[in-house]
Amino acid sequence: MSERHSLQVGQENIEYILTRKKMRNMRMRITSKCEVTVSCPFHTLISDVEKFIEKNLDWIKKSQSSILQNATSLEKYEYMTGEKFLYLGKEYTLMVKEGQTREIKSAGDYIFMTVYDLWDFEDKRSLLDKWYKSQANRIFADRFSYLKFLHKDFFAGNYQLIIKKGVSTWGTCAVNTGVVTLNFRLIYAPIELIDSVILHEFCHFYYIHHDKDFYGLLATLDPLYKEHSKALDRKYIDYTHYND
Ligand SMILES: [Zn+2]
Repeated sequence: MSERHSLQVGQENIEYILTRKKMRNMRMRITSKCEVTVSCPFHTLISDVEKFIEKNLDWIKKSQSSILQNATSLEKYEYMTGEKFLYLGKEYTLMVKEGQTREIKSAGDYIFMTVYDLWDFEDKRSLLDKWYKSQANRIFADRFSYLKFLHKDFFAGNYQLIIKKGVSTWGTCAVNTGVVTLNFRLIYAPIELIDSVILHEFCHFYYIHHDKDFYGLLATLDPLYKEHSKALDRKYIDYTHYND
């Protein structure tokens, strides 16, 4: 059973939900709604619960503020008509309407979205995500085979492409298996920056380390590689339309 309590600590009024259960040690958790929940063994004294909360006050404050920060970045978009989204380095305006279908397509500078419920943000987010994913699959694969063909004198091996979400680098190259991994977020960047990452990873099939030889080859294939890499770091490193 759970009960609501509050506790005055200095100027601060801490509200918490207390649950007594069969357990050994008291435990505390902060919910996604920033609520403090404490679970404790059946016969714990309230004064001990309060001491426990006081002792962990700093931790409570820190956890709550980090939840609030993440919440703001998650709520950056409402997926409503007029909001702008990056795609291949260009801004697209979202147009949303309610209808009997659930679909998404782009035309001109617009992304058109039809959903059953205009207020279902999670559904809209997942639909847009699906669209980005299918674009990334198509475009990255296209550029990958095009660049491999363009530089076939250098890259004759049997390479394979993998697209990943939630990775911290733009690309990686597994020399032994021939697998190049690209970061899904590259879909926000212009084609020439996507190309520059693919070429960078291709060069690792020759040189594992970022040494003089590596950059020598890269400069032949991508003479503007320095500018490209700077542009990626400067403009696109933090870009995301939600936390992935
Ligand atoms: Zn590298």
